[in-house]
Amino acid sequence: MFEGSDLSVLDFQAMSDEGLIDALRTAHGASAAAQAAEVFAVRELYRRHRAASAEPGPGGVRAGEFAATEAAVALQVDEGSAAAMIDVGLALEDWLPRTRAEFAAGRVDLAKVRVIIDSTRAVDRGALSELEPRLLETAERTTPVRLRQAARRWAARLDPGGAQRRRERRQDDRDVRIRAMQDSMAVFDGLLPAPGAQTVAMRLREMSLQVCASDPRTMPQRRADALVALADGSGQLRCACGRGARCPKKDVAEAPRRPLIQIGIPADTLLGMQDAPAFLAGYGPIDAALARILAEHARFQVIPERPEADDQVAAEQVARSAAPRLDREVRALDGMCRFPGCTIPAAESELDPSRADAAVLCARHHRLKTLADNKKVPWETWLADPDRLQWTAPTGDVHTTSSEGARYLFPHKDIDVPASPKESAAQTAPASNLPDDIAYPFRGHVLVHRQLCRITPEDEIPDDATTPAINRAY
Ligand SMILES: [Zn+2]
Ligand SMILES: [Zn+2]
Repeated sequence: MFEGSDLSVLDFQAMSDEGLIDALRTAHGASAAAQAAEVFAVRELYRRHRAASAEPGPGGVRAGEFAATEAAVALQVDEGSAAAMIDVGLALEDWLPRTRAEFAAGRVDLAKVRVIIDSTRAVDRGALSELEPRLLETAERTTPVRLRQAARRWAARLDPGGAQRRRERRQDDRDVRIRAMQDSMAVFDGLLPAPGAQTVAMRLREMSLQVCASDPRTMPQRRADALVALADGSGQLRCACGRGARCPKKDVAEAPRRPLIQIGIPADTLLGMQDAPAFLAGYGPIDAALARILAEHARFQVIPERPEADDQVAAEQVARSAAPRLDREVRALDGMCRFPGCTIPAAESELDPSRADAAVLCARHHRLKTLADNKKVPWETWLADPDRLQWTAPTGDVHTTSSEGARYLFPHKDIDVPASPKESAAQTAPASNLPDDIAYPFRGHVLVHRQLCRITPEDEIPDDATTPAINRAY
């Protein structure tokens, strides 16, 4: 451990892999504590500015506004970011005392703090004493994206009416915009209701995979070309491999349309008898009312609940007596890739046929698992029980994932959910003009090194031969 040591003088080249991972954790905690200090400093500056305003002006809303300006200039960041820091500091003081303490100690980072704030904004204060410790505990072992999904799911359970209210208000902010950039390029950007955005994303992905594997374009480039192809009337991505008649995708036949988005919803919620959150694959929870609107034009697959055994012997009996799970069942129950933190939707993922009880994995993580099973990489995976897939990292750290989709389809099995408070009084959330997409600060970074351009699961380009990845040259 490097607690208290000066990270800048560490000799990384001399460290073991374990030492490097350890240093990484320590440094991450130190930077989180530093982020907290920044937030608290700007928040205090704001408090002093406000206290110094003799005349706060109508409603007091403008008092202290130049605290953000001062901080922004000192740090050379934009004022919106400084204002966001003040906002974070205020939220932590107002309703998240435990999160504030954990942030100050560097045990939770800014990205996760922002997720916790955003997902508790409109939650009944009485429910927070249950919700906040649970979120902090979850933050320790998950990514910001997955934390956001869990937080929304729990908030939706504690205050179902609140989710619908927030969604309806947020939909008013929808927008698609273009911003000119240098070198004849433009940023095409937008904020959409999640099902619409997911429909666009899945359509672009589908079009990106309609060319052969020798197409030289990266997935980001294909998505960009596909968006234009959607708009210019061609509606299809032409393969750029240059192999002419030898290209296996030279005539892409009109395949039957398959659904672009997938939603898991409990039967009683679909029928309006309950208001449990539904699961939009690739996005996370959506409220029951929205799911019912989308269901009007949906194709349905019924996923029965299977009996559950409480010990290994009974589990094997159940497994033997029952028919094997159908692919669509496994996809619906898993909902998304079973690698820790991966959010590739199940419909876009592969099923691992090597297990009796198959699990959904995206192309990237399916390859990792195949390599691990063949002892080509120092990872290990095993199914601890039907719900728990364990991943042991090369350093020995164990990560477990469960079937996310099943928690939505069968809400009574969602044992992680905090107990619902006796009364959850309806309340209006404070208005927020902060962007909804709060991810790790590196998101949006454009990679300079081309060899890294397939590093994320959503940018992985699957091979089009059926040969297992393990037989290929590396
Ligand atoms: Zn081709
Ligand atoms: Zn994955």
